[in-house]
Amino acid sequence: MKDLTLNRIAGPTEVPETPLPATQNVPRIWVAIHDAACERIVMAAVQAAGMRVLDLTDHAEVQAWRRRAHPAAGVIDFDLPGADRLCENLALGGSGSPGVPVLALLRNSGADELERAFAAGAADFAFQPLTDALIEHRLRFLLRAEEQRGALARSERQLATVKRIGRITYWECDAEGLLVWGDHPERVLGLPVGRLPQNLTQLIELAHAEDRRSLASALLAGEPFALDWRCKGDSGRWHTLHQHAEVVDRSLGQAVLGGTLQDVTEMRSAQGSLARLNTRDPLTGLGNRQHLLGELTHLLAGAKRSAGRLAVIRLDIQNFKRVSHSHGMSAGDEVLRQIAVRLAELGRRGPLHLDAIGSLGGGEFLAVVADLDTPEALEAHLRCLRANCMAPIHLQLLTGPAEVVLGVRLGVAFHPDDGSDPETLISNAGLAVAEARRSNPAGDAFFFRAELNQRARERVTLEADLRLAVELGDLQVNFQPKVAAGSGEVIGAEALVRWHHLAHGDVSPGRFIGLAEESGIITELGTFVLEQACRAACDWQRRWQRPLGVAVNVSVEQLRRCDFPALVERVLAQTGLPPELLELELTEGIMLVGEDSVDLMQRLATLGVKLAIDDFGTGYSSLAYLRRLPINTVKIDQSFVRGMQTAGDDQAVVEAIITLGHTLGMSVVAEGVENAAQAALLARLGCDVLQGYHFGRPMSPARWVRWLDAHLSGGAVEPASAQQRVLTSGVGPLP
Ligand code: C2E
Ligand code: MG
Ligand code: MG
Repeated sequence: MKDLTLNRIAGPTEVPETPLPATQNVPRIWVAIHDAACERIVMAAVQAAGMRVLDLTDHAEVQAWRRRAHPAAGVIDFDLPGADRLCENLALGGSGSPGVPVLALLRNSGADELERAFAAGAADFAFQPLTDALIEHRLRFLLRAEEQRGALARSERQLATVKRIGRITYWECDAEGLLVWGDHPERVLGLPVGRLPQNLTQLIELAHAEDRRSLASALLAGEPFALDWRCKGDSGRWHTLHQHAEVVDRSLGQAVLGGTLQDVTEMRSAQGSLARLNTRDPLTGLGNRQHLLGELTHLLAGAKRSAGRLAVIRLDIQNFKRVSHSHGMSAGDEVLRQIAVRLAELGRRGPLHLDAIGSLGGGEFLAVVADLDTPEALEAHLRCLRANCMAPIHLQLLTGPAEVVLGVRLGVAFHPDDGSDPETLISNAGLAVAEARRSNPAGDAFFFRAELNQRARERVTLEADLRLAVELGDLQVNFQPKVAAGSGEVIGAEALVRWHHLAHGDVSPGRFIGLAEESGIITELGTFVLEQACRAACDWQRRWQRPLGVAVNVSVEQLRRCDFPALVERVLAQTGLPPELLELELTEGIMLVGEDSVDLMQRLATLGVKLAIDDFGTGYSSLAYLRRLPINTVKIDQSFVRGMQTAGDDQAVVEAIITLGHTLGMSVVAEGVENAAQAALLARLGCDVLQGYHFGRPMSPARWVRWLDAHLSGGAVEPASAQQRVLTSGVGPLP
């Protein structure tokens, strides 16, 4: 307790202009006492200094003093005329001054006197006769109570501010379920006071239908809980309320439930936006990988409960990068945005039911379909997804409107067949897409099912075996004859690699060249083929003393991975093959190497070797680009040769390629010639060289030598007889 200073109030003329110097920690006590003896006792009781007596009947002066002197308490003798008003004045405060606790000194202990004192706002009273000990005790009590009251008022003020700013209210509910509300529940619930719920049932009825059950069971369980529920305010707007509740009192034998209710609408919406930012793909607005993992976890839990099948579909949009390259990044982005909108619409409106849809970035999307009876039930979904991705996309470019059509590859993994956790399923669906990419590199749309990791494992084993085969020289280079279309004369052969796997038998180049490219083994493999082919061709020159050329396939990956011109130079030097007898067959993929390809091909051309474009017509070669490359030969892809007699378009393409090739000064080769009619037609159209089963299949080096022996001694290759032999031997014509 602080020491007390008793202030006798100065007279009206002495009211100071400025606040009295702060005698902090020393409370000032105002004393207004009629009786001198009594005054002495009071003075002694508080043992203070520097007091004066004020004629306290002038209330205006009292106010003025109060503002300046900050009294802590007052002692008022109720015998004093005007004591009641003075007490009111002091006790109630006003004009910006807080109330001051007043100790009323009463002459007698009658109830009327007491009534009077309390009515005037006195906080405590003391009857005559007074003792200084009593007064001192009373004053100490008064000041301590005042201190506590001040602290309480402060805390209430703070609480009110917190409640107002935090939009919180309090409620209690007795055993009958009747509610007693704290401050301003109407602000929190967004309802007029008249519609505030009076009991728990009414409170529960305010909740959104989806939240009602959880709110009711939490309230009725009698355990502490915290949950969010939605309540429709009077404006029709839904508020999100955060409800905390617990039993606050059991003293009367019945539990009294109490809790807070906070309007967290804005907070939740901000949290929602933040969460969306973290879980959305900024480009498409669809859920990102993080979001999809969450959705999948949830859907898988459901699928496991119902023992249902679930499909994870990865959609790899092809060629959208080409749109970015040719029309700018924003056009590529726009393409992905439009596809995202389509997929989202499909999921929302049907006809498909997609349980989740999201973006994995880089032109890949992911969809989830739950509750499938059989894997086959997914087929309609896949077809529909494919059709939607491949429908033309309209773009507004700076140069005007444009339309692009994209391809899509779909990879699917099923729960439980291919995995049962989100990461595994997404990754297995990714393996399926990669497999689709490998199996059908040029395909527009391709579906693939991840047959677990079986295939991936097989690939790893195959890759290891291939590496060994290359190291041990277990591969063989076969040769397929190339014939001059006009004279029927053998002009050389194409070298085609063969791999006889001990366990798998013959593995087709279509299967292992891709593997070799991905793993990098293509460099050693390509070197092996080049050396074998050049060495063999050198032998042919020596043996038959005529220029028999050899064509070697070169993968773009090989060009990327090693200094290919240096390799060719070395092999030519080592084998002694005249450079003009070596032709390198490149695919149109060479265009994708970019500007470097011009350089590279120039260096090869400088060596004196010939350059051919293989499988021409299947890729995206542009004429302008071809003109810049030192190409000697164009090989028409066998698909056009095959379709020549049936599809009018294919014959037109073949004619166009022949014309184009000749215009650019190139020799034109047709591959995949399987019958005499094709050979005759190609010769008539002006094609220079023919190659295909009609003349001879790819043959082992030994068989090829025998074949050459027979044909070179006999002159030109007889197509008809050759075909006869192909049909009977099945492997290749033997003389
Ligand atoms: P390519 O260079 O276009 O070779 C022609 C392919 O067509 C060969 O398949 C050949 O056996 C086949 N073929 C030839 N005549 C006919 C015919 O009349 N009818 C049909 N249906 N097919 C015919 P192969 O040997 O399976 O090779 C496939 C592809 O693998 C080659 O296509 C080439 O791109 C690649 N390849 C083969 N050997 C090598 C190599 O040593 N290095 C590289 N990088 N790629 C190679
Ligand atoms: Mg070839
Ligand atoms: Mg080819």
